[in-house]
Amino acid sequence: MDMGLSGKRALVCASSKGLGLGCARSLAAEGVHLVMNARGQDALEAAAETIRAEFGVEVMTVACDITTAEGQSAVLEAAGALDILVTNAGGPPPGLWSDWDRDDFIAALDANMLTPIALMKAVLPGMMERGWGRIVNITSQSVRAPIPALGLSNAARTGLTGYVAGTARQVAPQGVTINNLLPGIHATDRAVQLDGRVADAEGITMQEARERRYASIPTRRYGTADEFGAACAFLCSVQAGFIVGQNLLIDGGATSLTM
Ligand code: NAP
Repeated sequence: MDMGLSGKRALVCASSKGLGLGCARSLAAEGVHLVMNARGQDALEAAAETIRAEFGVEVMTVACDITTAEGQSAVLEAAGALDILVTNAGGPPPGLWSDWDRDDFIAALDANMLTPIALMKAVLPGMMERGWGRIVNITSQSVRAPIPALGLSNAARTGLTGYVAGTARQVAPQGVTINNLLPGIHATDRAVQLDGRVADAEGITMQEARERRYASIPTRRYGTADEFGAACAFLCSVQAGFIVGQNLLIDGGATSLTM
């Protein structure tokens, strides 16, 4: 299927590794020119170079913290006119409801709600004027089924989800779609971190921790960044123009829901 994306320009935030990189690679495979971002310059440039060599698209890199106003300005200035925006950033730390004070909430809201909102506000006018645009926000399965230890993430990402639900309907008349991708557990550095914590806490091996988590997922495995990226590329495709304001769970069936 030709997704109609060849020659388009995308900004993929937090994309030197993991799910963001999966999205960048899938878009590049469709001929999309990229602006990639992460804080660490070396891993970012290495990822960009691999994509240039493999897919022959233009890739610009901007190393900065996307959750800061300065980082957002730097990325947006370098990017110029965009057809596609994929928002992403690291998630807030886990804890107990009583651990978090106002500053913790402000930091989580800044990273996982206000950053994607600021980026959307910046790129939407141009997309609407040109009559075409695609925005995909990477959120989490916790938006559908909250993870108790991730209270900061639950709060911030649910706020973003509410904003997208309304905004997506306001911008759709101008040919712009906004949708969210909700990852369950994927085989990225984050899964290694989570399994490491369980292994340490319970005195079991990494393999045992992993197998225990696999057992809670109907597919009995973690998702891959490539699978995740393919869903992102589809949501950005011309064929997905009638998909508006949706929240697509990609979790191997782990979240047991009827709808
Ligand atoms: P990952 O493998 O740890 O990769 C994170 C990427 O984001 C790296 O390229 C990192 O590079 C970059 N990054 C992190 N914070 C950034 C910032 N402030 N500014 C710019 N770049 C930043 O993580 P992931 O597994 O892909 O997860 C991506 C998002 O999905 C996270 O919000 C995570 O909470 C959420 N999520 C993941 C899973 C999962 O199973 N993987 C499940 C549910 C939700 P630098 O460190 O160099 O900046």
